[in-house]
Amino acid sequence: MTSGKSRVDSRPDLQADFGYRILRLLEGHGLAPSPIHYWIFHDYLQASNEALVQAVSERLSAGRKLDSFVLHDLFERYVAGESLSRFNDMGDDLEALLSGIISLLRNAERTTAGFQACLTDNLQALDQAENPEGLKAIAQCLAAAVVTASSDNLALQRNLEEAEQEARHLRLELEKHRKASITDPLTGLLNRRGMETEMARVLKVSDEICNVMLVMDIDHFKSINDRYGHAVGDVVIRKVAASLRRVLPPDAVLVRFGGEEFVALLSGHSVQDAVALAEQAREMVERLRLVNRQDDTVVEGFTISVGISPASDSDTVETLFARADRALYQAKHAGRNRVVALGS
Ligand code: GH3
Ligand code: MG
Ligand code: MG
Repeated sequence: MTSGKSRVDSRPDLQADFGYRILRLLEGHGLAPSPIHYWIFHDYLQASNEALVQAVSERLSAGRKLDSFVLHDLFERYVAGESLSRFNDMGDDLEALLSGIISLLRNAERTTAGFQACLTDNLQALDQAENPEGLKAIAQCLAAAVVTASSDNLALQRNLEEAEQEARHLRLELEKHRKASITDPLTGLLNRRGMETEMARVLKVSDEICNVMLVMDIDHFKSINDRYGHAVGDVVIRKVAASLRRVLPPDAVLVRFGGEEFVALLSGHSVQDAVALAEQAREMVERLRLVNRQDDTVVEGFTISVGISPASDSDTVETLFARADRALYQAKHAGRNRVVALGS
């Protein structure tokens, strides 16, 4: 009897399983076990994505419904961004897997109920059993019930593990696509798409800290292209990007804004620090030399202009950029190859 009871009691362990809790939430909200629905609840329960947790909690505490439309919107905003369509393509298998698990869960519950009924019936039968044959029949009935319940349980566990593995794989894939979608392939720096998110994060978290933006542009780049060709132009862009990366602090958000223009956001640095760093970068670019190994020709004489502005409390990435870009414009008009800082 005790072994039968302990099998029934093993259900709460199963219910504590993470995957099980997600599926329960999905069921509770009447949502299909699609990868995106699963993902949102996964991140919500695991509290691994702060912005997402906050958005979900706000909706729940305001009594707003979490339907599929809302979850897709949350996914797009807080998880996938541009990678959403790729992710949708990858999700079909997981959806099938999760649907299978939901039906397994239902089966397991039916088996549990059947098992409990079997126990109750047999307990009553035990009282009335008068001979060894009667006892044997009861034991056989219980043994069969145990086998069914335990194989059901095993299948369910296996499928939940498989789903977790699949979800982990999707997470890695998604992370890869997300990174690629915000990275400039030529320089490895953030691209313009990544700029807004990364810089807005810095401006938001460090209200008390001095943030400074630098906008940097290679001077007369068009004529470098015209004189040496586009391929050499690309090498110059890469070399300048590497120089900026080397000079600027490791935690600076550094973006290739477009063509031959770069933007950096420094956190915890004064305008004077930023000017000093920009001067170092400017000098490093001046020293750059490209050697064509085939004919030993040397290409040199590159310069950059830099505009700098500190962030005020009310600045957004856009307003801060507009000011730093005005400073860059002044640097260009003052003759290029120089650094200009404008107050906030
Ligand atoms: P200024 O000193 O005023 O900045 O002049 P500039 O010639 O650098 O500026 P302009 O905006 O006139 O020219 C930028 C050029 O950069 C034009 C465009 O063909 C080139 N460009 C944009 N993207 C790339 C790229 O990825 N690779 C190469 N090689 N050239 C690019
Ligand atoms: Mg230029
Ligand atoms: Mg330019």
